[in-house]
Amino acid sequence: RTAVEALRRLTVDVPDWPEAGVTFKDVTPVLADHAAFSAVITALAAAGRDDHGTVVVDKVVGMEARGFILAAPVALALGVGFVPIRKAGKLPRETHAVAYSLEYGEATLEVHRDAIAPGERVLLVDDVLATGGTVAATRELVEACGGTAVGVAVLMELGFLDPRSVTGDLPVESLLTL
Ligand code: IMP
Repeated sequence: RTAVEALRRLTVDVPDWPEAGVTFKDVTPVLADHAAFSAVITALAAAGRDDHGTVVVDKVVGMEARGFILAAPVALALGVGFVPIRKAGKLPRETHAVAYSLEYGEATLEVHRDAIAPGERVLLVDDVLATGGTVAATRELVEACGGTAVGVAVLMELGFLDPRSVTGDLPVESLLTL
């Protein structure tokens, strides 16, 4: 498919960034190419529709910061609202917060308490699924609001990190698995 082709062609591997031994997948060239950007948004948005093309989600959440760039146009494509999941201390009103482990240390993600209504079905969108920790924490935030995480859509899944052992029964739609 066009989206997968574009991802393969335009994603840049950056060795030893942000630290030695890590190869960072830089997707900014995908965003800079209109045809590629458009194709990946269409492909990600498919995760929010059933086999008949009916939209089956009420909200799309994106995780700071690259998730915002993808989740917002996906929400518009599906005709539903967008909700930002932010790092600690950035959201101005009452939040739910979830702390989770990173490779080194801890991080906290937050969501506005009233951003997702009880019973709403929510699609998670991010650029890269690595260890799965970010997705698992985001799912907890959605559930703290009373919503249901119905799936996660990402450009790329780093299969060698085994993220699905962390994301559990949440359906994962990856355009490209590495
Ligand atoms: P996880 O929590 O380990 O799954 O890491 C996923 C989060 O880290 C996502 O929000 C990604 O944006 C970011 N991330 C991890 N590895 C990469 C990468 O190689 N390229 C871009 N983002 C990455």
